[in-house]
Amino acid sequence: SIPLGYFGGIGAGSRRGILVKGGEYLDVLAEVETVIFDKTGTLTTGRFEVTDIATNGELTKNELLQLASRVEMASTHPLAKAIVEQAGPVAPFATIQEEPGYGLMAIDGEHRIYVGSARYMKKLGCSIPTETSGTIVHVVKNDRWLGRIELRDEVKADAEQTIRALKQYGYRTVMLTGDRQEVANAVGSAIGIDEVYSELLPHQKVTEVERLATTGKVAFVGDGLNDAAALARADVGLVMGGVGSDTAVAAADLVLMNDAPHDVVAAIDLSKKTRRIVW
Ligand code: ADP
Ligand code: MG
Repeated sequence: SIPLGYFGGIGAGSRRGILVKGGEYLDVLAEVETVIFDKTGTLTTGRFEVTDIATNGELTKNELLQLASRVEMASTHPLAKAIVEQAGPVAPFATIQEEPGYGLMAIDGEHRIYVGSARYMKKLGCSIPTETSGTIVHVVKNDRWLGRIELRDEVKADAEQTIRALKQYGYRTVMLTGDRQEVANAVGSAIGIDEVYSELLPHQKVTEVERLATTGKVAFVGDGLNDAAALARADVGLVMGGVGSDTAVAAADLVLMNDAPHDVVAAIDLSKKTRRIVW
């Protein structure tokens, strides 16, 4: 039977937007030693803005943006949303395939349009110019680089304070991301997180979670985009409810409705308090 104290903990959580799927998850959360965060949409807002566009000259900047948008319309990724919004109304390609953690591919008659990371273009065997700063979405036609779109989002207002609190409590704090090393390290040092691992594919995030879990219990905090498997693999998975997909909410043990990293600290406090009542 489940001790009554857990119901108190679950109720107290739900009143402030921390939804716990079962008392056992509060129990595990109280034992966690490492808190692992996803970057995009979790520690950062995930609301990107296009900050620069460069092309090889074949298309204008606006044409490149619109071409990318015709592909990105099939994606729910934060980068896709920003590109689609910035491009304005265009028709999506009929055949589009998403490559999680890489980007997308669309079929345009006898041509193929690829939109995504440098790593994706390298995997396809396409050479691309050396990158500038920021998060970059490249656009390639068949094997020809057409240009790139640079985007930026911001660190969430309470991210630094959250990491500071966790470190004061004695937690090991880690960030995992599919984004470029340069962007990842800049975010990591801005918020003072202990360890940063970047340029990871969704399955590599799972491997990192498994490696970190060998020394003690781990919590993973994500937004559910390309990290649902990592959420499910952690001892406790917490999903930010703001943008979390249905699959992410299903993979998580706790749902943070307020989209605020600091609710991770609140959830940990709740788990410890509940435990004191139960034991
Ligand atoms: P994160 O871990 O930061 O949430 P993802 O794993 O979702 O990152 O994506 C990793 C990288 O793959 C992105 O930084 C981007 O370069 C590329 N990518 C993923 N999805 C898309 C997309 N829909 N459009 C363009 N690029 C994408
Ligand atoms: Mg993400």
